[in-house]
Amino acid sequence: MNIKEKDSLYIANTYARFPIELQSGKGSYVYDTEGKEYIDLGTGIAVNTFGVSDEKWVNAVTTQLNTLQHTSNLYYSKPCAELAEMLCTRTGMKKVFFSNSGAEANECAIKVARKYAAEKKCSDCYKIVTLKNSFHGRTVTTLAATGQDVFHKDFLPLTEGFLYCEANNIAELTEIAENNKIAAIMFECVQGEGGVLPLTPEFVKAIFDLAEKHDILTIADEVQTGNGRTGKLYGFMNYGVTPDIVSTAKGLGGGLPLGATMLGEKVKDVLKAGDHGSTFGGNPVACAGAANILSRIDDELLNGVVRKSKYIVEKLSGAKGIKSVTGMGLMLGIETVKDASEVITECRNNGVLVIKAKSKVRLLPALNIPDELLEKAVEVIINACKEC
Ligand SMILES: *Cc1c(COP(=O)(O)O)cnc(C)c1O
Repeated sequence: MNIKEKDSLYIANTYARFPIELQSGKGSYVYDTEGKEYIDLGTGIAVNTFGVSDEKWVNAVTTQLNTLQHTSNLYYSKPCAELAEMLCTRTGMKKVFFSNSGAEANECAIKVARKYAAEKKCSDCYKIVTLKNSFHGRTVTTLAATGQDVFHKDFLPLTEGFLYCEANNIAELTEIAENNKIAAIMFECVQGEGGVLPLTPEFVKAIFDLAEKHDILTIADEVQTGNGRTGKLYGFMNYGVTPDIVSTAKGLGGGLPLGATMLGEKVKDVLKAGDHGSTFGGNPVACAGAANILSRIDDELLNGVVRKSKYIVEKLSGAKGIKSVTGMGLMLGIETVKDASEVITECRNNGVLVIKAKSKVRLLPALNIPDELLEKAVEVIINACKEC
């Protein structure tokens, strides 16, 4: 049996895979088992922040791997504490809970919001407002938070207590906030899975104004937008706001599973011993790698993200077969005249890996992708979007 056959026989059918098997890579290049070379603009869905087998990250990870691979949270551990310090110093947040994925990071955010509201507001102030078209994860609770019915339909009943508001609709948000007992408003600065759609500055301001007025917590889901992706360390920093809770994952670990829920001043002491936990959370190997990643997301790198983003947007905007380009930093969505899947296939055939977000082509390149590779890849995308 070849790998494709084994996969379809033994792996649960949850993924519609592209028809290639990736074997290795270096930086922004990846190679399949037939030796074909690709420029990777997907980075395993915004995970491989510095591309594949990045030397400094591999060193940080392997050094820790050869020292101590796992401790459990029964003991103190240096990589975990140092990464938490780094995250707090860089964001102004006060404490961090570590987990292993975006869904878990959001799950923790939701638990903190519920506990805070129950203790500080009222026992039935548990409702959380999320946005339509959002994506917050696949657990039963983060699915409930996800404002898209397509993900809900086969898994009812979901965790109750979520209200959905149209993104960028200030009137609707105001109406919801003023007429319900709300614990928190949860949002992605740029809706990733929803089609790479940024929130307007006015809407983000309205979230924070309403939050202040009604003692509502703000939760920024930075699982995809975080860790340099939007051109700032975290997406909320583009909006000049300070959320009470920030969740992140994907690019933080640079390729190893790691989630983090950062807690601001208001909520830093909500969780007490025994309130929450994770066996693998804060794993020393993942944390050592993440500390390396985070230390390298500096102004120079972020300026590069902004510059590369501008280059892509300028090249693609108005090109034949391209209706619009949305997003922020190196998180971009292309609305194409042709079916997005067709464009993705054509790009792949021509050596460029891009992925989908709803009906759009989504680009999530490594933050350090060399200019020459980006230029080449953009040419391939432009050609793939042209109608014959
Ligand atoms: C990917 C994603 C998640 C879920 O992360 P997992 O690691 O797959 O659990 C949650 N929120 C956002 C915004 C995401 O992009």
